[in-house]
Amino acid sequence: MSAHSYKNGGSASRGGAIKFENYSNSNSKYSPSSSLKSKVQQPMPAASSLRRGSTGSGRDYSTISGRVRVAVRLRPRNSEEMVADADFADCVELQPELKRLKLQKNNWDSDTYEFDEVLTEYASQKRVYEVVAKPVVESVLDGYNGTVMAYGQTGTGKTYTLGRLGEEDAAARGIMLRAMEDILAEVSPENDLVSVSYFQLYMETIQDLLNPSNDNITIVEDPKTGDVSLPGATLVEVRDHKSFMQLLQLGEAHRFAANTKLNTESSRSHAILMVHVKRSVKGKDSSLSNENGNMTPVSKTLKPPIIRRSKLVIVDLAGSERIDKSGSEGHTLEEAKSINLSLSALGKCINALAENSAHVPVRDSKLTRLLRDSFGGTARTSLVITIGPSPRHRGETSSTIMFGQRAMKVENMVKLKEEFDYKSLSRRLEIQLDKLAAEYERQQRAFDDKIERISLEGQKRVAEVEQNYADALEKCQKDFMESKKRLEEQSSVKKENHGQRKVNVGVSDNGTDQKSNSQPPMLPNSSEVAELKKKLNSEILLRKAAETEVDSLNKQLIQWKNAEAARNSEIVKLRKMLEDEECEKAKLEEEIEMLQSQLLQISFEADQSRRNLDKRLSGQAPSSLDSLIPQPKHQQQREPADGDKASVVKLFEQVGLHKILSLLQSDDADVRIHAVKVVANLAAEESNQQKIVQAGGLTSLLELLRNSNDETIHRVAAGAIANLAMNETNQELIMSQGGISLLSLTATKSEDPQTLRMVAGAIANLCGNDKLQIKLRAEGGIRALLGMVRCRHPDVLAQVARGMANFAKCESRASTTGIKTGRSVLIEDGALPWIVKNANNEASPIRRHIELALCHLGQHEVNARDMINGGALWELVRISRDCSREDIRVLAQRTLQSTSGFQAELKRLRIDYG
Ligand code: ADP
Ligand code: MG
Repeated sequence: MSAHSYKNGGSASRGGAIKFENYSNSNSKYSPSSSLKSKVQQPMPAASSLRRGSTGSGRDYSTISGRVRVAVRLRPRNSEEMVADADFADCVELQPELKRLKLQKNNWDSDTYEFDEVLTEYASQKRVYEVVAKPVVESVLDGYNGTVMAYGQTGTGKTYTLGRLGEEDAAARGIMLRAMEDILAEVSPENDLVSVSYFQLYMETIQDLLNPSNDNITIVEDPKTGDVSLPGATLVEVRDHKSFMQLLQLGEAHRFAANTKLNTESSRSHAILMVHVKRSVKGKDSSLSNENGNMTPVSKTLKPPIIRRSKLVIVDLAGSERIDKSGSEGHTLEEAKSINLSLSALGKCINALAENSAHVPVRDSKLTRLLRDSFGGTARTSLVITIGPSPRHRGETSSTIMFGQRAMKVENMVKLKEEFDYKSLSRRLEIQLDKLAAEYERQQRAFDDKIERISLEGQKRVAEVEQNYADALEKCQKDFMESKKRLEEQSSVKKENHGQRKVNVGVSDNGTDQKSNSQPPMLPNSSEVAELKKKLNSEILLRKAAETEVDSLNKQLIQWKNAEAARNSEIVKLRKMLEDEECEKAKLEEEIEMLQSQLLQISFEADQSRRNLDKRLSGQAPSSLDSLIPQPKHQQQREPADGDKASVVKLFEQVGLHKILSLLQSDDADVRIHAVKVVANLAAEESNQQKIVQAGGLTSLLELLRNSNDETIHRVAAGAIANLAMNETNQELIMSQGGISLLSLTATKSEDPQTLRMVAGAIANLCGNDKLQIKLRAEGGIRALLGMVRCRHPDVLAQVARGMANFAKCESRASTTGIKTGRSVLIEDGALPWIVKNANNEASPIRRHIELALCHLGQHEVNARDMINGGALWELVRISRDCSREDIRVLAQRTLQSTSGFQAELKRLRIDYG
């Protein structure tokens, strides 16, 4: 191999084109994070920290520069290529850890290109989504426009990457579905709106895939803002994942039907999904009257709520191959040109943008008009270029790669699109005003009613008293009249008597009349007077009583009025208290929001530290070995690790280890998953390990491996066990609790590379314990380790190799301490062919461990014969000469010198290895 030339990617960074470095940071690899707001992948700084300039039109733009990000994805060989290209190597070689791709020029020469992400044939759909689309989706949720686009030759996996529905296997879902899942999970159903349109562009005509009769949609451009829209396209509101799935299925069916009608294939048309997201921005400024109709101080409500409108465009482009190449399509040359018009116009625009040329021919095609915001515009754009491995399509692959390289040079100015929602503010204020008015009226009515009731009562009492008084007076008068009448009668009778007596005096002197004669005439007798006086007195008393009653009623009336006033002031006071309560509530809500964001932060940090654990696991080799991660990156990761420590300690204090461990048995699967993640994070800290084991955590983790069927749980639990398995006491505990057979069982059942990596890492740790060698083998640990090489993921292989190196080292230690040992168990169990085959593996962690394993095996005389027969001697010789690590080179030389079997064989072959 000679003459490797490095292209573009390097020059892009040298030229300072990469201005927005923290967008899709390289450390986000294998990010298992399920929380949307991951720190590493966060595409934008928090909106508040952006430069913000109000345009005065109610719109508010924040601007930031962002280069178009480009990932390359390699499709695995398909069955046809397996047969047809069996004798040829792939035309590309990926170096994902360096983000480089080598394209074979000929047998001895290749070109190297750098991309933002290099996705191998093993990359899962989830990972592809996370590195290609997730940062864009997060941006869209934050109010920026976003584009995700796939470009590549037909059959290389564009539709697989973007549009797969994964009906049979959810893990196969493509970017469209995953993006919508993330969007729906984040938006609020009450305040936000998500709607989609879906159409295809074929021969410069736009057809609605949600309504086939709508087969010539026009593009409308806003002359002021330059925004493009398709008012004619069907727009469907999406509320849940199921209905979106149905929409995509419908679109797919219509696309098939439309293309049959047009006598073409889907590879000739561009399919475009547009997701419109409208969100109201929550914040203390926009908190208004609450649902119960209680009042919030009006001053608070005067700031209008902000809405953000953004658009996610997902484009499955037509095949990039030159259509005139295959004449069998039945298209005339004119048709061919037209079919490719949009795609070649896109190429021209990207060239112009990449070269910073003054004129960008955006108006040349409908595709470029539709995507004007995506390239050189205000959107955050991520492009995935898809390629196949076949050397027969080298030319197409090369031109796809060049397209990607040019796209990497395109700079966008990403803008936040938000506006004040005056309409909804005024609507809300009106509603609030109505509520206030109604409340005022209600209170006024209640008050009037009460006053009326009191005054009626008062009037009734006064009337009663008056009536009583009148009755008494009447009775008095009547009595008085009667007495008077009686007196008059009496006086007239007396007068009569008096006249008669005068006559009688003249005739005879009658002694009987002498008595009456002594009293004065006309005067009532004294008893009657006394009675009258009494009556008068009692009348006077009655009257006085009535008067005091009236007085007291009046007083009472005044008292009631006072009480009424007091009550009113009470109401005012209560209302004030209510307002205070509301203030308090708003504050609490704010606090909850803050706590939630802290929780997010903690769970992010938890994920982060699990990633660190992953990395530590890959670097867990004996101290003399290289870590998987190059040194400078390692340095960068120290800092967040300290942050983790703090947050983990916080969790510890707040929740308590026992509580966390008890959650491992929760009935709720989500809770279990969270709990096991937390435990795994705790277990990553050496200082926690003893506490976890003492509290029964190890037992619970093993229990999870035994009883759970969930892949995530298996992966995380195995990771935690791998960490705990770093010290000897724990290793023995794992063994005694049946951990080996559980790990082995997990190794056989799982196909997930990450799970296998964790399991292999755990077993590799156990392999390093001298005391456990026999048991490890007896319980199937070695066989499980060897079995995992079926997964060809380099990280898994590195752990397997580490396990073998550890195991071989223990064996050789045992033999040197004089313990009588037989042939190596590794050789007995058939590991040697794999070891020999991978002794020169290009992944350095695998190679290093295997080199060590070979040296350790070779140090034991009884293994020499098998090693010579299996070709391992040649590898040892090679290591002793070529290994770039001096310590390993010296170890191999010593091994060759000290083992007489090797000496004899080398002498026989007259090989000088010194
Ligand atoms: P395109 O849309 O670029 O024409 P497709 O997405 O239709 O290509 O893929 C072509 C074929 O290759 C399909 O059968 C698809 O299932 C398969 N394929 C594509 N990418 C992958 C991949 N990464 N892994 C496995 N199969 C793939
Ligand atoms: Mg396709």
